[in-house]
Amino acid sequence: MNGSSVKSVADLKAARLVAPDAELGAVAEKYAIGITPVVLDLIDPDDPDDPIARQFVPTASELTTTPEERTDPIGDLAHSPMEGIVHRYPDRVLLKAVHVCPVYCRFCFRREMVGPQGLGTLTAAELDAAIGYIATHREIWEVILTGGDPLVLSPRRLRDLMERLAGIEHVKIVRFHTRVPVVEPERIDDEMVAALTASGKTTYLAVHANHPRELTAAAKAGFDRMLAGGIALISQSVLLKGVNDDVETLAALMRGFVENRIRPYYLHHPDLAPGTGHFRVGIEEGQRLVQALRGRISGLCQPVYVLDIPGGYGKADIGAASITGSDGCFTVRDWQGDQHEYWSE
Ligand code: SF4
Repeated sequence: MNGSSVKSVADLKAARLVAPDAELGAVAEKYAIGITPVVLDLIDPDDPDDPIARQFVPTASELTTTPEERTDPIGDLAHSPMEGIVHRYPDRVLLKAVHVCPVYCRFCFRREMVGPQGLGTLTAAELDAAIGYIATHREIWEVILTGGDPLVLSPRRLRDLMERLAGIEHVKIVRFHTRVPVVEPERIDDEMVAALTASGKTTYLAVHANHPRELTAAAKAGFDRMLAGGIALISQSVLLKGVNDDVETLAALMRGFVENRIRPYYLHHPDLAPGTGHFRVGIEEGQRLVQALRGRISGLCQPVYVLDIPGGYGKADIGAASITGSDGCFTVRDWQGDQHEYWSE
């Protein structure tokens, strides 16, 4: 394994991930760079189309923005009653305790908020206020820790956080969204697993991975440790041009999740984050891909293809609708695209 993380343009050049004369200063000023040693090992520097490199190595294309792109593409700010909380749906909140990550994904939908130049970590007073908000809103059944990547926090701080959430009777589910099990799997040790669970609460952890090569033996060891520790695992991926926008790669990724006992959950349509147009796949192409997955792989392996509606209106399932019609007469489309009539009272 390579020794240290890549965090600057000079590091990228030293690791041969970009050309010696690459002009990336303006990109680096705007968006953080971060590649862990584990990810570095997954990249083939001689492959100009490497799907892992594409996710993490910055390019000048990031300086090109389109009119429809937004700094807050999924509208977090419109639903943020205080620092660190996003309350978009009645029964759940996002708790964004940190805005740093072990890696910085070039397509990130919160790229304007994360990184050293981002929103930072909640102060003790802000965290107290956020926990107080959750405690006084009895409709909150689930707390989703995201950010940033919550697993950059030390096990001690995560345990403190879990203990505070455990004291709130109406919170039943705590969910973590994280890249750490894939990009820094050595952090998923017994101490971390214990820190993520609390008596009386159910912990879910959404593993963010976009290419089957990310599901390494080291990542699997961490998944096994979490499963043995009573944490339920679900997946989260983004459909990305040049990374996973073909049926073979998506099928291998979803099967890889299931083989690791991770239930496929979300396949996100890429958000309108600034400078990410080179990653976006058309919605019709995305629908064609998820439709093709249905015929090819087990029902266990099917993710929900979702779009976060810009402006903060929440997620919509945009997988191609298989059924149309009304007044009892419907047309159902099978996985090969053939249509069949169906009558219903
Ligand atoms: S780990 Fe998540 S929050 Fe961090 S840069 Fe990647 S997508 Fe964004």
